[in-house]
Amino acid sequence: MYASYQACTLCPRACGSNRTAGGRGVCGESAELRIAAIEAHFGEEPPISGSRGSGTVFFSGCTLNCIYCQNYQISCFHMGTPMTVAVVVERLEELSVQQGIHNVNFVTPDHFLPHTIDIAGQLRRRGVTIPVLYNCSGYETVESLERLEEMADIYLPDYKYSDADLAQTLSRCRDYPAVALDAVAEMVRQKGFLDHFSSGREIAGRGVLVRHLVLPGQVQNSIDALSTLYGEFGAELPLSLMSQYWPARFIKHAELNRRLRREEFYRVYDHALALGFKHMFVQHMDALAENEDPFLPDFNQERPFRGNLR
Ligand code: SF4
Repeated sequence: MYASYQACTLCPRACGSNRTAGGRGVCGESAELRIAAIEAHFGEEPPISGSRGSGTVFFSGCTLNCIYCQNYQISCFHMGTPMTVAVVVERLEELSVQQGIHNVNFVTPDHFLPHTIDIAGQLRRRGVTIPVLYNCSGYETVESLERLEEMADIYLPDYKYSDADLAQTLSRCRDYPAVALDAVAEMVRQKGFLDHFSSGREIAGRGVLVRHLVLPGQVQNSIDALSTLYGEFGAELPLSLMSQYWPARFIKHAELNRRLRREEFYRVYDHALALGFKHMFVQHMDALAENEDPFLPDFNQERPFRGNLR
């Protein structure tokens, strides 16, 4: 299982790095598992967070390294500590037994896929049967996703860009629009659409929910991304439309140093409605505080998300 770290092609970057020997590719991580936080998280969509939270595991490093990342402390600065699989399993088991988390939520785990599969397998063998959620950027290979078929119950991918030039400028991956579309198609083939909508289950147990974060100054990218998703998957595709962008640090891209404007978000939302998406979670801008975001993390804190303190 861990042999994939020896000539790594776990993500579409296909660096070929020998991470077992300490090599690092674009994700910046060797084969040593490093984790920035494990906690019950309340900032996901209602059928994911529920009332008792989602058991999130935040991995250090990232295969995309978007210049505007809200989690830049872990994605770009690689904050985190080495951790064994046994410790992660123990911590998640604790959260399951003591807090009753609704699911296990691996956040941006693609560069640690072998560890992720190992953790999920050990949890199952120890009787933790809550759904396993793969929460990712959308920039995944179909081969990696095939390895997850047995393990994952829910996929929560982003579909960030329809504009290849923008993908190149902000995340250095011109191939993102096509790669992510293939990835979402594979996820839907495996799990179908999120069952919260089809079955009426309050807490999701299986399926795919696609997220799209609207970026300041990039309305056309969002409009085209939604059109692409609609054209490919139709009106039943569950969609989470997000407005929470926050300039977490100074970025050499003028428009990304401000928050999203209401008119920008509602142009995108109106387009989603006009297309006819039937199942949407919408992060309306009125719901967001003017000057603070409780789910903007600080990984220097023991509990990085203030919104999780309850
Ligand atoms: S997971 Fe990391 S090392 Fe492996 S191909 Fe992707 S960026 Fe390169």
